Amino acid sequence: MIGKLYLVATPIGNLEDITLRALRILKEVDFIIAEDTRHTLKLLNHFEITKPLISYYKQIEKKKSPLLIEKLLEGKNIAIVSDAGTPGISDPGEEIVKKAIQNHIEVIPIPGACAFVNALIASGFSTKEFCFIGFLSAVKKEKKEKLESLQYETRTIILYEAPHKLKDTLTCILSILGNRNIVLAREITKIHEEFIRDKVENILDNLEEVRGEFVILIEGNVTSKEDKVLLDLNEKTLEEHYSFYENQGLDKKEIIKRIAKDRNTTKNEIYQYFLQKQ
Ligand code: SAM
Repeated sequence: MIGKLYLVATPIGNLEDITLRALRILKEVDFIIAEDTRHTLKLLNHFEITKPLISYYKQIEKKKSPLLIEKLLEGKNIAIVSDAGTPGISDPGEEIVKKAIQNHIEVIPIPGACAFVNALIASGFSTKEFCFIGFLSAVKKEKKEKLESLQYETRTIILYEAPHKLKDTLTCILSILGNRNIVLAREITKIHEEFIRDKVENILDNLEEVRGEFVILIEGNVTSKEDKVLLDLNEKTLEEHYSFYENQGLDKKEIIKRIAKDRNTTKNEIYQYFLQKQ
């Protein structure tokens, strides 16, 4: 029988957040693959679990996955853990999961802590729809382009950030997305857990020395991309508005219908306007 791959979530600070199932799986598997074996060893020691550990981090994911798949195919059960939280979420996991699925190996998630989920539910922002970005690129141009692409995002935006980059990222958010409401979810589940809820400009003004781990949540834009197009169109002349739809290949009847809808008026009014112009 071939083995199973377990994706085991571990605490993001408070060790009480490990689940009973996670502990049982970590005790039962043949190996644990871990992002930082020294870090995971501390967790295992705390729960008196002795298990062979294999190092598995982002830079060696592709190279090491075939060996791990071999072990799974030989019948070994493997658990993957990251330094904190849920594997595969801004952490190694995706690569081995894809390979396991290709090899018809069962992949079993063992749920638990995840920083962004807990930041979101306590943020006070909409939890109905959200957009998880994870870490922005370290390359300035890519970071800027990503934020620009989020300008008209109406869903709650969630970012991960390292403390030494927090100030720069908040500054970029202010200049690209504007003075939005944001929440900094800091040190979740730890002693200094804190939720800072304010406009990004106020947060920047009061930002002292930054320590700990952060999730940045940005309130979605009230204006969607479609709203923006409409706002721009309604500021144009009726002729320009007409040309906009004409260039999309629409016929006269449809164009008049759409302009009337956009401008919250009647089709007859628009029709009369163009009739008089003739
Ligand atoms: N896999 C993890 C998860 O499930 O959340 C995320 C790992 S990612 C490498 C680390 C980032 O997650 C940190 O830079 C920070 O943005 C966020 N994070 C992790 N633990 C946190 C905590 N206790 N409080 C706030 N943010 C945390």
